[in-house]
Amino acid sequence: MKLGSKARDAAREILKRCDSCTICAKECPLLKERGLPHDLARDALAGKLDPALPFLCSLCGLCTVACPRKADPAGFLRLLRAEFAASGDFSLEPFQDYLASEARTSSPNHTFLAAPQGARRAFFPGCGLSGARPETAWAVYEMLDALEPTAFVLACCSHPSQVAGRADAALTRVKDLAARIAALGVSEVLVPCASCREMLQAAEPEFEVSTVYETLAPVADEREQDPDRESLDIAVQDSCVWRLDKPVHRAVRDLIWGSGHAVSEMNHAWYRTTCCGAGGQAGLCGSALPEYWRAQRLEEAGDRPIATACTGCLRTLAGSHPTVHVLDLFLGADPLHPPAFLSGDAAHLGRLALKRRARRHFRGSRKS
Ligand code: SF4
Ligand code: SF4
Repeated sequence: MKLGSKARDAAREILKRCDSCTICAKECPLLKERGLPHDLARDALAGKLDPALPFLCSLCGLCTVACPRKADPAGFLRLLRAEFAASGDFSLEPFQDYLASEARTSSPNHTFLAAPQGARRAFFPGCGLSGARPETAWAVYEMLDALEPTAFVLACCSHPSQVAGRADAALTRVKDLAARIAALGVSEVLVPCASCREMLQAAEPEFEVSTVYETLAPVADEREQDPDRESLDIAVQDSCVWRLDKPVHRAVRDLIWGSGHAVSEMNHAWYRTTCCGAGGQAGLCGSALPEYWRAQRLEEAGDRPIATACTGCLRTLAGSHPTVHVLDLFLGADPLHPPAFLSGDAAHLGRLALKRRARRHFRGSRKS
């Protein structure tokens, strides 16, 4: 198929920059097996690229940060997803359940926005935290609200549509959501999720989008440590979505230290972090990458418990290794016996229970 202008420009940029040095392929088995970015760009321009290939990629961005010539293969593959999804060259059938779940979390049933008098900021736990750990989402809200009046927003950022290649539809919806949040009168939205932040920022909102980790880091610094608590070495799983965001990485580590534990880095950390396996939902399309990334993370963690600020990483790694959300750790969870997370229908029910709780909390004082 003929590429659209954005993907065509991105392919030409790869051809200009990539000299097939193989550095990125040393990190990523997909590039090693299916061709270096220069080859993929050439094939895409010639209409010969397998339309399934961008959907086998985890969209983790490691190739882009590894490239000494500043090529952006990850951005190119992301654009190709949108192209092949829009043209129908790749059927989104594998994403059916994933998108159906998004439709549920985007529905009015799962949406709630309210602000107390004088709130200048909102907490937006996203579908990930509010579904997997609804109790944590509410405990963090209460902590923030005790510091200063804070609005609560339960909604979906439409990241699943973006992942599936429906970038335009996702942007339209998140812009609509950003306008509803702005109507609460807040100037800052705090998120725990890298994807929510990416989506809200893409909407070019009237408010700042910050992480809850950066807001809580000063609280962690001031916290008195419990001398009886056993301090463990915690391996940090950094989300690949905010791999370039040093302040977030620092804040996540502050929360670990503030929980009385020691940060112990993995080989791939900070901007060089690797995907946990969930990235791009490549597993839905039969990619072998998710299992490769997951195994690599677990090997790097060794016998250390893992802490992560990403619910996707939590879901992927916790099945076979003690893995705790850093917010649960901050709230006192034992990293060796982390609290269970909800998934599937239970996660949807958890979100609804969270909404009921929020509704009770705001009854009478609501501005929404
Ligand atoms: S999986 Fe990650 S490193 Fe590999 S091509 Fe995709 S974005 Fe690049
Ligand atoms: S690291 Fe950069 S220049 Fe080297 S093969 Fe990858 S994209 Fe090309």
